[in-house]
Amino acid sequence: MIAGRVLRRYFEFMKLSSPVFVRLGDCRWLVACVAALAAGLAACDAGVSGPAKPGKASVEARESGVSAAQQQEQQQLWRQLADIERSGYSRPAESEAALLALAARPLKVGSAEWVEWLSLRGLVNAELRAHAVTAGLLADLQSVESGPQREAARLAAALMQAQTLVREGKNEQALKALAVLWQSPPAGPSSLPLRQRCHALVAASQADSGNIELAIKAGLESVKLAQQTQSSWRLASSLAGMSYVYLRAQQVDRAKQAADEALLQANLDPDPFTLYRVHNARAVLFSESGDEQQAEASSRLTLDFARQTGSDAILALALGNSADYQLHQGQYQSAIFRAEESLALALKSGDLLSQALAHLNIGLAKIALKQVEAGRKEVLKAIAMDEAQGQAAAVAADWRELGLYLERAGDWAGAIDAYHRHRALFDQQMREESRKSVLDMQARFDDERQAKEITLLDRSNKLKAEQLRARDLQLRLWLAVAASVILLSVLLILAYQRIRQSNLALARSNADLRRQGERDPLTGLSNRRHFQSAIKRLAAQGKLQGSVFLIDIDHFKRINDVHGHAAGDAVLVEVAQRLGASLRVQDLLVRWGGEEFLIVVDEQQVASAAALAQRLLDQLALTPVSYGTQRIAISASIGFASFPLAPHGLVVNWERAIDLVDTVMYMAKAHGRNRAYGIEAMAVADEAALAALAGRMEAAWHEGAVKLQALQGPQRLEESKA
Ligand code: GH3
Ligand code: MG
Ligand code: MG
Repeated sequence: MIAGRVLRRYFEFMKLSSPVFVRLGDCRWLVACVAALAAGLAACDAGVSGPAKPGKASVEARESGVSAAQQQEQQQLWRQLADIERSGYSRPAESEAALLALAARPLKVGSAEWVEWLSLRGLVNAELRAHAVTAGLLADLQSVESGPQREAARLAAALMQAQTLVREGKNEQALKALAVLWQSPPAGPSSLPLRQRCHALVAASQADSGNIELAIKAGLESVKLAQQTQSSWRLASSLAGMSYVYLRAQQVDRAKQAADEALLQANLDPDPFTLYRVHNARAVLFSESGDEQQAEASSRLTLDFARQTGSDAILALALGNSADYQLHQGQYQSAIFRAEESLALALKSGDLLSQALAHLNIGLAKIALKQVEAGRKEVLKAIAMDEAQGQAAAVAADWRELGLYLERAGDWAGAIDAYHRHRALFDQQMREESRKSVLDMQARFDDERQAKEITLLDRSNKLKAEQLRARDLQLRLWLAVAASVILLSVLLILAYQRIRQSNLALARSNADLRRQGERDPLTGLSNRRHFQSAIKRLAAQGKLQGSVFLIDIDHFKRINDVHGHAAGDAVLVEVAQRLGASLRVQDLLVRWGGEEFLIVVDEQQVASAAALAQRLLDQLALTPVSYGTQRIAISASIGFASFPLAPHGLVVNWERAIDLVDTVMYMAKAHGRNRAYGIEAMAVADEAALAALAGRMEAAWHEGAVKLQALQGPQRLEESKA
């Protein structure tokens, strides 16, 4: 009879603590959901976790406007409270000491921490049967008549009363005390552990009372709340509890899934008490569902972990369950031995349920050993104890077991009576509408969970999409930056090249302009401007050394008049070419004015200069200029001189030199044109004398003060005009 007994006792623990999550359909779903939730919450770091988690407490702390240091202190306090809750049942005395030590640090009266502290003290003191203490704690909680923790304090007080009533075997009254749970439960994460404990207790008590429908409702709520606190030990404990409730509802598949998940969660953060609970639930489940091998292993583990907890009450129950298991195995004598061992411990710890379980198992074993009357007496004693404690489900199961054993022992009448009693109670507990309602409730729970899962997945997908979008944007930004840099570099290079080209072009253009500025556009010869810079080089310090020629075309105006201006231009171009042809590269040839040309050569010998002058006269006049079909006869008058001036070697500046040759050129004009006059000598020793003599050149020539060389141009050929 492991089931009824063990389960009942199992739920005693649930009444003390146990939050969890229950996966009823698919375990993979559960794992995924928990993982997704954990991930989601970890990512959010706000909202849903229980006060045991720092994130949760800090939310509340923020809301109440406390400093970061105070927040940390609060989070630390909540962690300590959760640790105490975890060991509260197996080591109540130590837990009470730890709670009192916590109070050394002042707990603000009326705060969420203070309510939780009182509630946990109620839990351990109910276990210690310290009624005076729990009465005082209850008074403290009931003194909270207003403020944000009013509902939490009210619930904590109800829980404390219920726990005491359960200890006294007053199951129905305990459930009545906890009715406030469904009325106006406190809100906020700090009340999560408290609400979870209340629902776990209601689930256990309702199951014990045979109200499967209400047990499942409370159990599922307990699981949801445990899930929100995010501690695997709570989850393991609640799952183990749900495994029991499902077994009671005859839903073995769901019971197995919950039991498997419970073990998985317990192993994530193991402790002897949680493992004891989980293996105990599994032993019950496997035994009930006929899996002997697993049942034996779980039973052995249950006993091992019960011993590890160091608690008499737990060990008493584990021994009782073990006796139950041996009974199932037909090991009647050792079952009696173990049940008596359990009874001794249960009496020592005042545990009524374990006592009833021991009497039941001893009685059944005795019936099996043919001591029918002695056995029946023990069993009826157990049934009476269970009835007195409101353990209706256990009573129903007790009658069934009694019927089974009496039947085997051949007491048909007794067996039939026991079966009838069992049937009556069972039918009452498992009414058809109740079953239907349970199924509806489960369906709703599954739907809710599924919706939650979808929401979580959706949120996670949105987050991922957002991250992808952000990454994409970042990449695009980098690409844009890179492209901009490349583009900018290219533009800079192009701009630099363009500026460089522009500068070169400008330099070229400037050079061209300069050149053009120094050139006569018609003939291409140097103009006066170029002459001025060139003559500075030839006449160092203004003193000219060489020969200067001034050539003026004769009657040029007439050429323009007769042949047209364009023909005049052509004549000028031709004259420039002919003059140039008679000179060397280093000689300076300049278009001096309209139809006047100036030549400077470095030849200082008058004879050489005269030869050049003659050559020039010939070059110009010997051949008429061709212009279209026209042949234009031309000649020129030339004045020239060589410097320094003979005979005294007078050195003159170039302006003076040009004045002199200009004077003699006009003399050549005056004397008939197509001729050249060159100054061979001037009897002057200084500038002043030179200026005076130049002013009267013609007279001075005739007087002999100036010696001129006269050269005659060739006979002009006849002009022709087409
Ligand atoms: P002379 O024998 O005394 O030197 O007589 P001339 O006609 O050559 O001298 P004048 O000074 O009276 O006339 C010069 C003419 O040269 C006047 C002007 O119209 C012409 N002339 C000056 N520059 C240019 C030019 O670039 N092209 C043309 N076609 N004619 C020009
Ligand atoms: Mg002239
Ligand atoms: Mg002229």
